[in-house]
Amino acid sequence: MAIVDTFAQSAYGDELQKSLSKGGSFSLETFQGECSDEEIERLSGIAQEANAKVIVGVGGGKALDTSKAVGHRLGLPIAIMPTLASTDAPCSALSVVYTPDGAFKRYLIFSRNPDLVLVDTGIVAKAPVRYLVSGMGDALATWFEAEDCRMTRAANMTGRPGPMTSHGLSKLCFECLMEDGLSACTSCEHKVVVPALDNVVEANTLLSGLGFESGGLAAAHAIHNGFTTLGETHDYYHGEKVIIGLLAQLWMTGRERAMIDRVYRFCRSVGLPTTLAQIGLADATDRQTEQVAERACVPGETIHNTPFAVTPKMVTAAIKVADAEGRRLQNAA
Ligand SMILES: [Zn+2]
Repeated sequence: MAIVDTFAQSAYGDELQKSLSKGGSFSLETFQGECSDEEIERLSGIAQEANAKVIVGVGGGKALDTSKAVGHRLGLPIAIMPTLASTDAPCSALSVVYTPDGAFKRYLIFSRNPDLVLVDTGIVAKAPVRYLVSGMGDALATWFEAEDCRMTRAANMTGRPGPMTSHGLSKLCFECLMEDGLSACTSCEHKVVVPALDNVVEANTLLSGLGFESGGLAAAHAIHNGFTTLGETHDYYHGEKVIIGLLAQLWMTGRERAMIDRVYRFCRSVGLPTTLAQIGLADATDRQTEQVAERACVPGETIHNTPFAVTPKMVTAAIKVADAEGRRLQNAA
């Protein structure tokens, strides 16, 4: 059974129908809205009734996460076909479960990774560039989060300290974005593929996927999860919220000024948000920022992989400075 999101359905539905039917009979179900317990339940029921033998997920991050959850629940092989490079979800053995109205609920961890991940960069190039850029936001956080986990020997997403390999791949992910990020945007804007786009798709999908899963997450994703509690941010993509989380992480952990400048410069060059206003929070109140910080610091959150004890007060301060620096650069331009 193929689980396809509405975009992939309208853009590639016919082609998909043709190519999948060559492999035998299959059914095509449309993913609706959120990767929520309710949607996983609904699609699992349909797959069971159809006596599905394989689950194929086609589309963006949430449809793919739902497909993984359905396949895992039914004990079936899982094939993942991303049409976007907007998150590092495709390769991981994990889904992020949201409430039906889009707030972060929990991570669902599986015993194994998808059996197949197939990305056609020609398809990624045809999608709006904002998706690719958002994926770069998600991928840019990978090395910094893995680095904090490495320093504390914190558990990665499988519960063990990350191996050296994952740190090497995370670093390569960062270097690839710095080198090829801007060229990949140009490539995608013109809907064509050059090697820089191939590289960034690989960084966003594979390197960031292996990097976060085996290296571990830290403050950036916890702060992202905090942002999801504010309805105003729901129209913004995962990586767009993660990047504000990353900027806050850089300030909070006292990274070198040269590195902070480098990250802001990169974000501004490719169009990643650097201010709260760019993720829907132009009028954020102090109370809202505190709410984000409190959610980011709940027990069990990955922010506690930071090399020192983090309090909501520190997170609030870091978010404010991250935003102020973003606005300062905007005004100076
Ligand atoms: Zn992420």
